[in-house]
Amino acid sequence: MSDPALDLLRRIFGHPAFRGEQAQIVEHVTGGGDALVLMPTGGGKSLCYQLPALLRDGCGLVVSPLIALMQDQVEALRQLGVRAAYLNSTLDAATAADVEHQLLAGELDLLYVAPERLLTGRFLSLLERARIGLFAIDEAHCVSQWGHDFRPEYRQLTVLHERWPDIPRIALTATADAPTRREIAERLALEDARQFVSSFDRPNLRYRVVHKDGAGVRQLLDFLAGHRGESGIVYAFSRKRVESVAEQLQAAGIKALPYHAGMDAQVRAGNQRRFLQEDGVVMVATIAFGMGIDKPDVRFVAHVDLPKSIEGYYQETGRAGRDGEPAELWLSYGLGDMVNLRTMIQQGEAGEERKRLELGKLDALLGYCESTQCRRQALLGWFGEPHPGACGNCDNCLEPPSSWDGTQAARKALSCVYRTGQRFGAGHVIDVLRGADTEKVRQWGHERVSTFAIGNDLDERQWRGVFRQLVAVGLLEADVEHHGALRLTAASGPVLRGERELRFRHEAPKPARGRKARGATTVQMIELDVDSQLRFDALRHWRATTAREQNVPAYVIFHDSTLRAIAEAAPDDLDELGRIPGIGASKLDRYGEAVLQHLFDSAP
Ligand code: ADP
Ligand code: ZN
Repeated sequence: MSDPALDLLRRIFGHPAFRGEQAQIVEHVTGGGDALVLMPTGGGKSLCYQLPALLRDGCGLVVSPLIALMQDQVEALRQLGVRAAYLNSTLDAATAADVEHQLLAGELDLLYVAPERLLTGRFLSLLERARIGLFAIDEAHCVSQWGHDFRPEYRQLTVLHERWPDIPRIALTATADAPTRREIAERLALEDARQFVSSFDRPNLRYRVVHKDGAGVRQLLDFLAGHRGESGIVYAFSRKRVESVAEQLQAAGIKALPYHAGMDAQVRAGNQRRFLQEDGVVMVATIAFGMGIDKPDVRFVAHVDLPKSIEGYYQETGRAGRDGEPAELWLSYGLGDMVNLRTMIQQGEAGEERKRLELGKLDALLGYCESTQCRRQALLGWFGEPHPGACGNCDNCLEPPSSWDGTQAARKALSCVYRTGQRFGAGHVIDVLRGADTEKVRQWGHERVSTFAIGNDLDERQWRGVFRQLVAVGLLEADVEHHGALRLTAASGPVLRGERELRFRHEAPKPARGRKARGATTVQMIELDVDSQLRFDALRHWRATTAREQNVPAYVIFHDSTLRAIAEAAPDDLDELGRIPGIGASKLDRYGEAVLQHLFDSAP
């Protein structure tokens, strides 16, 4: 007996088989069941509602907060021959009326709609008159008040369940920690829904953490040298920082564009479009950028400043390598980041409970950064998923860090903070430890404290590492009253009294200028033989032209991985071409001849 879902998967989407739990989810929802789906970015969530929408009677309604991306999502479906449309505030009245008409006439398989529009009385009564096959609630974590993408309208989506109790609902998210999951189920009235929780491991992603030298831009440039011509995202802490980093990258000849919430909306949208459509654009952005960006060929995500939490970090980095091919994640952070973030949280408007929560999240992230454990094991562990470690694709596995006994150094550092009155930043305290003759030292009479010049055994860089790690493990904290000042914590006592031993990571040696940092090996890219490479280049060129003509992102036409497979297989006719993964009936029909022609023309 043939399986209609598998049939559609092959015929329309061109994929030979289901991935992970897709088959079970599709079957469950097609059969009318409610589902809560947790899958990492790039895991293949869309198919989990798109196939049931095609298999069930009526239109599948997709609630999504990502207005800017609906057009691309819908365009990608239309390219596959699926009758899809969207409704949001970017449409003019006539087009919107047209879409509503199609919905009522039963001419749509999938309709994407923004939550604020869905919840209007007018739209809900429109739905009463339409035939709906299922409700899909994408980015379901937006219902969580503690998450980073909270959308109050998501709380009202229970109305769907109340008014249409018999229509199946499927909620999907890539944010997976257990409290958020519980909150989603509760807030969306999905307690009885079947939960599908996938592994969050992304084996193609390589994790790397480095300690910042100065502002970290030179290190970033070294890292980018291994990714020339590739698309990627650089996340920075603030709008000002975004602009300055973008300028420095541009000055270094990199096709970098800024993106943050303070920019002119049109310029910002233009930059996003260029990132999606052109090859090799580096987007320098605050975290305002990226939710739902489903560009599959993002080859790296670099954090030039410390993110706010492990969840945020995982989500931001998850945007790399959605096509399953190797991608690299790079995070640089220093003492200044920790002090800035801590001060910002403590001085913020939030209530005490929220502040404690955010500080706790920051601590967990710092623990991750300083850890000598396999990064993958640490990250997955945070989401409650066991991993044996030794992944072979993170810095700690590739170049195991060494540690040293830092008990004495920690005592000296803490006691010097104490002797100088707990009102100075690390720079000055290090000067005192190293017996430096500075104006500030003389001004405060610190050449007379007992810890003056007791730290000549370490250089400044090593001391910075000591202070950073002391803050990271909570033995020193930022004093909000005196900006940048460090003070002792309740945990410092046992160390000062010699009752607790500490081990520190060795600081990586400073890389020589113009050379790549030790171990900054580039991700192994897929190598093609010479002929295949020629064909691949010809196909990419054809794809770029075709995408421009249609004003759609290149990946909507074909993914890199599909082009590569075509280049390697060098098919002679449409039959052979149609058997390559990623080529469904509609794409074969639209582009088959052109692809074959270009293969033929590029033959040596
Ligand atoms: P998510 O929404 O979970 O981030 P998507 O639905 O965008 O992920 O899918 C990510 C990528 O995986 C897309 O390029 C999609 O075409 C591909 N994909 C999804 N399911 C399959 C499958 N069964 N076989 C091959 N590729 C798939
Ligand atoms: Zn590892």
